[in-house]
Amino acid sequence: MAFVVAVDGPSGTGKGTVTSAIAKKFNLMYLDTGATYRCVTLKLLNEKIAFTDIEGIKKALKEIKIEFDDGKVFLDGKDVTKEIREEKVANNVSPVSHILEVRLAMVDLQRKMSEGKDVILEGRDIGTNVFPNANIKFYLNASQEERVRRRVKQNKEKGIEMSIEDVEKNIATRDYNDLHSDIGPLKQAEDAIYIDTTNLSIKDVVHIMSKRIKPILRNEKRIEKGYTHRKETTWKKVERKLVKWFLAGLYHIVYRVKKVGIENISGDEGLIICGNHVNYIDAVGIVVLNRRPIRFVGKSDLCRIPIILWLARLFNIIPVKRDSSDMTSIKLCLKGLKEKDAIGIFPEGTRHGMDKQVKFKNGAVFMAYKAHVRIVPVGISGSFKPFTKVVFNYGKPIDILKYKTTDPDWMDTATEEVMKEIVRLTNAKN
Ligand code: C5P
Repeated sequence: MAFVVAVDGPSGTGKGTVTSAIAKKFNLMYLDTGATYRCVTLKLLNEKIAFTDIEGIKKALKEIKIEFDDGKVFLDGKDVTKEIREEKVANNVSPVSHILEVRLAMVDLQRKMSEGKDVILEGRDIGTNVFPNANIKFYLNASQEERVRRRVKQNKEKGIEMSIEDVEKNIATRDYNDLHSDIGPLKQAEDAIYIDTTNLSIKDVVHIMSKRIKPILRNEKRIEKGYTHRKETTWKKVERKLVKWFLAGLYHIVYRVKKVGIENISGDEGLIICGNHVNYIDAVGIVVLNRRPIRFVGKSDLCRIPIILWLARLFNIIPVKRDSSDMTSIKLCLKGLKEKDAIGIFPEGTRHGMDKQVKFKNGAVFMAYKAHVRIVPVGISGSFKPFTKVVFNYGKPIDILKYKTTDPDWMDTATEEVMKEIVRLTNAKN
């Protein structure tokens, strides 16, 4: 999958402890981004590179190797788990983390370490900068006295010697620098869930966060499952036939259905069926009112709903992530077309897209071109109010190669032509 939980907030809010507990609970990779800045700080201090020596810093960043393994932090192969928590690093990490070159390199490293993984990251700018599209974001805060008290206790447990006054000074300075930096400042993301941990135990915070993470993770897992193919067993075929009969029967009870030009899709060549999207259940009509199995491309988000996930996998629907060029979906479509599937797509991308004047998506034309298949336009008309007439008017297959020119935008033009034909079929008297 690639499920991202972002946890931001100042030091001493319990971020580290709760984040690692949540990581264990939900089997997520835990990434302490503060430790990456601490490692850079330690390297610069060890190698006596001044914080103003940008060339020296760039060279160090090129060479640096930061690794996390089994709760330990390794800098250039050496275990520095304890050393990066000591006073000399604590007092210098804030200015180092606000050097542009350091910031860019660390954000890049954090993104690379998280790539394709289910991960929880804690830091200062995770929800605002590193992963602005994280699945869920938290912002933890606590009163300054409480944060100092926690840091002193934590230092004692880790055997780090630092007076209360020094911890107080260190936290206050870091807070100021983190909040007022021009580069990657500590800021609550607008969509982050705010938790004041002052009077809460670790267990309480973990509980509050878990309650918010659980449903989102469950939804993501369902969406992911929508992309997995359910094996074509005899039982699946029987199940599909029964469901198809049932839904077709229901369709005929609720609407007066008229199908025109159905012969245009009844062959066995691979083809793409493109229609105007007027209602959630127009795709259902195309799928269940035809003998030929038709797979539809549908919004992956819908797989969050268990019954839709089940139907999607039963009818081999191809999910597509919204607002992104979803390569997995495109690959699944091309594979299906090669195996002579009939695939349904709504180029409007949304219901009543034409009325809303959306730009038509040219994915259907792109795939028809790539897979050497034709496009069958279908005009769907009707109000979809119970007991009214619904018409599916299938047109002649279109060979999109006739629109191919040297114009780089020829696919947009071809899509417009397909849409014009759909409009003509929709408005035809039937
Ligand atoms: O979280 P921790 O206290 O280990 O972070 C050390 C320092 O690293 C912070 O005070 C902050 O200056 C910097 N930091 C940052 N951005 C992050 C994480 C930490 O600037 N995402």
